[in-house]
Amino acid sequence: MSIEVLNISKNYGEQKALDQISFSIKKGEIVGFLGPNGAGKSTLMKILTTYISSDEGEAKVNNFDINLESKSVQKSIGYLPEHNPLYLDLYVREYLSFNADVYKVAKTRIEEVIQLTGLTPESNKKIGQLSKGYRQRVGLACALLHNPEVLILDEPTTGLDPNQLVEIRELIKNIGKDKTVFLSTHIMQEVEAICDRVIIINKGKIVEDKNLKTLVKEQTNQIITIEFDKIISKEDFNQFNNLISIDHINDTVLELTFESKTDMRPILFDFAQEKGLKILQLNLKNRNLEQIFREKTSKK
Ligand code: ADP
Ligand code: MG
Repeated sequence: MSIEVLNISKNYGEQKALDQISFSIKKGEIVGFLGPNGAGKSTLMKILTTYISSDEGEAKVNNFDINLESKSVQKSIGYLPEHNPLYLDLYVREYLSFNADVYKVAKTRIEEVIQLTGLTPESNKKIGQLSKGYRQRVGLACALLHNPEVLILDEPTTGLDPNQLVEIRELIKNIGKDKTVFLSTHIMQEVEAICDRVIIINKGKIVEDKNLKTLVKEQTNQIITIEFDKIISKEDFNQFNNLISIDHINDTVLELTFESKTDMRPILFDFAQEKGLKILQLNLKNRNLEQIFREKTSKK
């Protein structure tokens, strides 16, 4: 396992930031840590990177114990903090060179990480002259200097414009081909774009931990918009015991929500025929991941 977390809890005074968090991440996985602001994402990441300690629980990164082997944990991790502090007056190479010294990494590695993160065209500038997207690349380059096996990225795309966002996502996906990546975000689309798996956290508790493909497959709610050639009443649908709700959009157009693993559309065609109705339009919506996230994190 690349990351193993067992019953981690953390309080800030009366505030419970993390409540018995457990999960594990296999080598090579790209896992999205999704949750609204204040859910506890950064707190867990700071615990894993050994910046702060937990009150309870255990964790291992790359099989090193965060409490007993913190130096080895730090060597195994490349960390991009949420508000990545960069020295704006330093040139890109000066900044990377300083950090290479801190990590005791050969200077030849600097050119490698510049290339790896697509920094080459901007590498002769001061960090202060760079766009937010390029500053994030500098942060990533720095996190990659010591060639760590595990990357922990705290909201790596927050504050980027749409083009930078796409570029940084691509870059993370590329880097993730031979590393374990644990990245936090409050945007579901981000997880869909980059990750294999999602762990959803809300108010310090894990509320979902699933492979993305499984999560989509498990969604059994089908929302069907249907238009008939005649007025139809709710009672006409009494025969469907898997019908969760009926909303009339107007007299002939309805929105039906079914709980069903099989496609309800052919069944609705047969139903219309039995009733002597003609279907003028039929549209199936699956619950998307954005809705799943809202449902999982809206509980008070
Ligand atoms: P997220 O990264 O998901 O937005 P955080 O881990 O930053 O959430 O915060 C979780 C909760 O802990 C929040 O309610 C936040 O206000 C609180 N918190 C975080 N850091 C501190 C701190 N140093 N002192 C007091 N409260 C904190
Ligand atoms: Mg945070």
